Amino acid sequence: MARIVMKFGGTSVADVDRIRAAAQKVKQEWEAGHEVAVVVSAMAGVTNQLVGYVESIAPLYDAREYDVVVASGEQVTSGLMALALQQAGVPARSWQGWQLPIMTDDTHAKARINNIECAEVRRRMADTREVAVVPGFQGLSPVNARVTTLGRGGSDTSAVALAAALEADRCDIYTDVDGVYTTDPRIVSKAKKVSRISYEEMLELASVGAKVLQTRSVEMAMKHKVRVQVLSSFDAAVGSDLPGTLVVDEDEILEQALVSGIAYSRDEAKVTLLGVPDRPGVAASIFGPLTRAAINVDMIVQNISEDGSVTDMTFTVSKTDLARAVKVLEEAKGTLGYERLVQDTNVVKVSVVGVGMRSHAGVAQSMFQTLADKGINILVISTSEIKVSVLIAAEYAELAVRALHTTYGLDAA
Ligand code: ASP
Ligand code: MG
Repeated sequence: MARIVMKFGGTSVADVDRIRAAAQKVKQEWEAGHEVAVVVSAMAGVTNQLVGYVESIAPLYDAREYDVVVASGEQVTSGLMALALQQAGVPARSWQGWQLPIMTDDTHAKARINNIECAEVRRRMADTREVAVVPGFQGLSPVNARVTTLGRGGSDTSAVALAAALEADRCDIYTDVDGVYTTDPRIVSKAKKVSRISYEEMLELASVGAKVLQTRSVEMAMKHKVRVQVLSSFDAAVGSDLPGTLVVDEDEILEQALVSGIAYSRDEAKVTLLGVPDRPGVAASIFGPLTRAAINVDMIVQNISEDGSVTDMTFTVSKTDLARAVKVLEEAKGTLGYERLVQDTNVVKVSVVGVGMRSHAGVAQSMFQTLADKGINILVISTSEIKVSVLIAAEYAELAVRALHTTYGLDAA
């Protein structure tokens, strides 16, 4: 028999009927003899509402009080889930983040988990078969024992961390999609559900716009080798039937596709500094002030002028950081000595991801050829060991994703 953590996201516990339905899934696994712990999100929309209350009273809020307010959404669902399980004849008890406790650092509103104390819960799971219900998103700061929260989407991370602490065989993430797809099915109708994907691929896909799991939860799963399954709470199957996508170690994947998925992100903006005097240290002097302003730069290209005296520097930042980035660079114009700053928000980043790239050449080339055949101009390129990304004009996003999906043989039959 296995030890399983079952996590239900906001849409899976959106009202009392769905909480009851989720409890039935827990019951099924429990009746099959598995040891089960449950992690719940707040009911759909509740966290947004709570954040709204906070912001309307205090636009620049005290993060400790923000945490007190927003952590309450998960408290409600954990109690309701424990009650629904009891009503279904399954022994269950809720444990708040401060009760276990789930110890975090003291970075309120985006705390990181350091340790979960779960000996008592584990003993009860084994001895009396009691199901522990734990609210996601919550933790406890070591400073003054105040409630913390883990950042939006943090319940995924709570679930993976609990699975690691319990040494669970699997962490099932029940959500409103039935797995991880080769690309966004809303764009490519032939997108396929992947049965297994490696942690590293999932991380790349999560960080380039496939928002199924909180990125940090995947990092945590990779670090502690927690086997994670993404599956739908609206399908009849339960996790032990393995209907979803398993996110696992590369070694568990027998047939490795060259490219496992294609992601796109509309969150980026392009900035070009034209006519920057070219001398040693120029890149450091441009990116230094951005780093100090906590602005993350993603893709970078530098062009050299013919006589080597000036250069153009192009890079991308997230759209939400664009205004600040422009301000920082305009303030530094005197020292940087560039001629002109050009910004462009009409761009999209398209990425192909796959661990197979490590051992096979030519993935980047077939990407460039595919885009060329469609007449799509590439503005910026960046690569990592298992990813090639290009920045293109936003209007070509769908055409590019579809064409690449075909090129890499990902279209469903
Ligand atoms: N309820 C929190 C949020 O919406 C945490 C979560 O559901 O993952 O961000
Ligand atoms: Mg989520």
